[in-house]
Order: sequence, then structure tokens, then C-alpha cells
Amino acid sequence: MFRNYDLRRHVYGQVKDRYGLAAQAAQHVIKKVADAYATLHANLRSGHLGRPGSVRRERVQARPIVFRPGAAQPFDDRCLSWRMDARTVSIWTVGGRMKGVAFTASADQLTLLAAHRKGESDLVCRDGRWFLIATCDLPDVPVRAPDGFVGVDLGIANIATTATATGTGTGTGTGTGDGVRHSGKTLNAVRHRHRELRRRLQAKQTKSARRLLKRRRRKEARFAADTNHTIARRIVTEAARTGRGIALEDLQGIRDRVRLRKPQRVTLHAWSFHQLGHFIAYKAARAGVALVWVDPAYTSQACSACGHVAKNNRPGQETFACTSCGFAEHADVNAARNIAARGETGWAVSHAA
Ligand SMILES: [Zn+2]
Repeated sequence: MFRNYDLRRHVYGQVKDRYGLAAQAAQHVIKKVADAYATLHANLRSGHLGRPGSVRRERVQARPIVFRPGAAQPFDDRCLSWRMDARTVSIWTVGGRMKGVAFTASADQLTLLAAHRKGESDLVCRDGRWFLIATCDLPDVPVRAPDGFVGVDLGIANIATTATATGTGTGTGTGTGDGVRHSGKTLNAVRHRHRELRRRLQAKQTKSARRLLKRRRRKEARFAADTNHTIARRIVTEAARTGRGIALEDLQGIRDRVRLRKPQRVTLHAWSFHQLGHFIAYKAARAGVALVWVDPAYTSQACSACGHVAKNNRPGQETFACTSCGFAEHADVNAARNIAARGETGWAVSHAA
């Protein structure tokens, strides 16, 4: 029995009495369990946990889901109330209601919170500190009809390279005149440093080393997220300023295709690309910038000048040189031009009516 309503009918009384939970809290516990299984089942269906019969999948299916003591806990407005003026929250706990608990946030977040907070908040304990994660529901900004598209190519050496279909570079990154590349140098250096430190800590296997490891991993994730936010903001601001739309590779497709061949390739990078795509998408939506997802197949091998597709068009990691028409360009800029062109086509097709 996995559905929230069914579960509630059968276990609500037990959960409430046995653990001394208030009515709302007991319902949240049940819903959290139901949600966790819904996510698990969706992952199983889409094959993210391996093929049927695989060791990984069998192992996941054989064990019940377990929640960490510090795992995120959802609270609705009945269990947690916000007082924006006093900047405090009142929160229900198993030890009774705690009133006047001070909270803080950046000035931007406070404004957003006061105007648009909606629904449940998650309470999370991280490294001994408590965080409230609130959902803000922002009104839709109408999408402006784009005057051309800028394509975004995602890579490891250059996290993001932007170019238009006709090859005029835009933006404020480290440009070469034609196409703008957002370097992954700093991020890769930090990752490398973290990896070294991780290896040393992992070898220790003490409790404090494990704790330190966890903290490092979060720090690295925060750094990557910060980098992605900065790049996404630059790309969206520039697109808004020039009246262009943004074309992004459909990353889900890439990830699934790669996963079938070499699972070790998709680690932090795949996650980071996915996050950058997500950041660009939501920032674009907030700015009313048109966004089109394009098929990423052969964007790196196709010539953006004549359309000729060949593996030999890529003599090196960084260089593109068309074996048919002789067009030469930085490989990432060429890919970004292809993505931009596909974005324009995609937009035209979906807006033909
Ligand atoms: Zn060519």
C-alpha cells in the first residue's frame, strides 16, 4: 500500500499514538513516506536505478526506505507560522510549540518571502545548523517574441559557450570576438583540490574525517551552484538586453544516452550541467526571455556554416575544421552556433500557427 490516502486510513491512529505526534505532524509523516515511494517508483520505471534484474535495482527494491534523523521535514502553515515583521517563526515540535524563533535571510530573499511565500516549508539540519527552505510562487512573466537566438553549449573546459547562429558573439564572459566562453578553469581547479582532499580523508575512515568529508562535499556543491548562478545570470541578462531567446541542449537526453555506455562519465559534471540548464531556464522565465530545448545530437560534429556532419571535423578537443567547406572555428563556438540555429528552427516550428 503506497498511496497517501490509503496509508493514512490504515496507519494514522498508530502513528499518532505510538509516537505522540499531533494530527498534522502524523499526516506529514505519512505523506512523506508516500512521496518517497512515489519518487522511488518513478525512478524504477524510468530505469534510473538499473535494468530489471540488475544487482543495483534488486538491492534498492529489497530494502524499505529509511529516513535519516536530520532529513528534511515538511511543515505546512498550521505547524509553522511565519512572522515577517518580527522575523520569527513559530514551529510545532514533539516537545511542544516553539515560539519566536528568530530567522534570517538576505535582503532579496526577505522581500521575496514576504510577497510570494506559498505552501509548505522544509526544515533541514545541516552540519548542526537549521535551515528553513520556503517555496515562493512567482507570477508568470509573459515571454517576449525573440529577435534571434543565442545557443548555449555546455562543456567541461568551458562550462558554457554562447553564440548566435550567424556567429556574432554576445555577453560578458571571456570572449574571442565570435562566441563567448565561460571558463571552467576555476571550478575545475577547485574540484581537483577537493578531490585530493577527499581521497586523503577517505583513507582515514574516522568519524571526524567522515564529518569533514561531508562538509567538504557540501562546500564544493555550493561553489559549483554559485558558479552556475553567475553564468546563468550573465547569459539571461545578455539575452534580455539584446532581445534574443536562449537555446539549450536537452540534457536529459544526453545523460540517458551516456549512462548506457559509461556510467563513470556522468558524475558531478552531469549533475552540474543539469543544474546550470535549470538555473538558465528559471531565470529566463522570470525575465520573459524565450527558451527552446533542442536535440543535442551531433552539435559538436556538424559544421555551422554548411551543415556537413563528420567526426573528422573535430581534429582536436578545441578545434573545429570542416572537411567539406573549410570553415574553422573554436569547437565550442561552432557547437553553440548549431544550437542557436536549432533554437530558431524549433521556435519557428512551434510558433508557425
Ligand atoms: Zn562546412
